[in-house]
Amino acid sequence: MLKIKDLTVELEADAGLVRAVDGLQLSFERGETFALVGESGCGKSMTALALMRLLPDNGRVAAGRLELGGDELFGWPEARMRSVRGGRIAMIFQEPSTSLNPVMRVGDQIIEAIETHTPLRGAAARAKAIEWLRRVGLPEPERRIDEYPFRLSGGQKQRVMIAIALAGEPEFIVADEPTTALDVTIQAQILDLLRELQRERGLGLLLITHDLGIVAGMAHRVALMYAGQIVEVAPADEFFAAPKHPYARLLLSALPDASKRGEPLAAIRGSVPPLWMEFSGCRFEPRCDRAMPHCRTVLPPMERVAPAHMVRCVLYEPNAPQSAPHEPRAA
Ligand code: SF4
Ligand code: MG
Repeated sequence: MLKIKDLTVELEADAGLVRAVDGLQLSFERGETFALVGESGCGKSMTALALMRLLPDNGRVAAGRLELGGDELFGWPEARMRSVRGGRIAMIFQEPSTSLNPVMRVGDQIIEAIETHTPLRGAAARAKAIEWLRRVGLPEPERRIDEYPFRLSGGQKQRVMIAIALAGEPEFIVADEPTTALDVTIQAQILDLLRELQRERGLGLLLITHDLGIVAGMAHRVALMYAGQIVEVAPADEFFAAPKHPYARLLLSALPDASKRGEPLAAIRGSVPPLWMEFSGCRFEPRCDRAMPHCRTVLPPMERVAPAHMVRCVLYEPNAPQSAPHEPRAA
């Protein structure tokens, strides 16, 4: 249904040219929830903005293809892309306050999406907007439709954003940390709602998050990103039961289990490398507990370890030189 091929995103930054996303490859099935996970600064949000063609002014898609049902969207002029954005692909942002228009009534923002992307107009569009507000669980939608965003709580604004995203009846939704700003109860309600709507409408959902707990409850497949590249792609159950990449293993072993609740989350030593760096070998090498000298010089390709499971690590290369793991260098 949707294919991302060799996506490379570059940003002009003070430090120089930053390659925020480097050769990303993913494809989605209809009705699938695909989670893109990783620490902050690994390229997840830039991937989302590139798919929407909403990169900041200093950013550009340097290479790659985005295929949606036979169309290649990166090559389209902006005017044509406008009919796709919100119509075939919609996005739910992390921060509703910055993406809702503060001087426009919430209902008008939903109606605009309906009139732009569906045949409904006027009273029919308004009735549909009320229906969407009810659907996303906003109380008293007949009254609240005429309110301005500042009258709503954070959770309510997030619901309005989801209503706007759904109102264009997209085939595909990109949700970037859709619940990070919300408290736990509202977070759970929003995720339930997304799951339900997604199942019912056959939506493809790209869920971007650093929260592996959310991934476990929502995703069919998981792609783990590190420093601009995907390092592991797997069905969610395989990813959680038997993660392969050393980064995935460390992340999952740092997840608090029920018995450790209340203790601080174990952090992985070191941090994500700045993306203006020139990389020669494996980008995770400075933090890896399995690293070998070889890892510093050769970028491992993605290797298939099971029918739907790919990993970027020399440990899984069929002819890789094996040697005893050494102490990771301090990052
Ligand atoms: Fe660790 Fe080497 Fe695998 Fe990179 S390639 S994750 S450094 S073992
Ligand atoms: Mg982000």
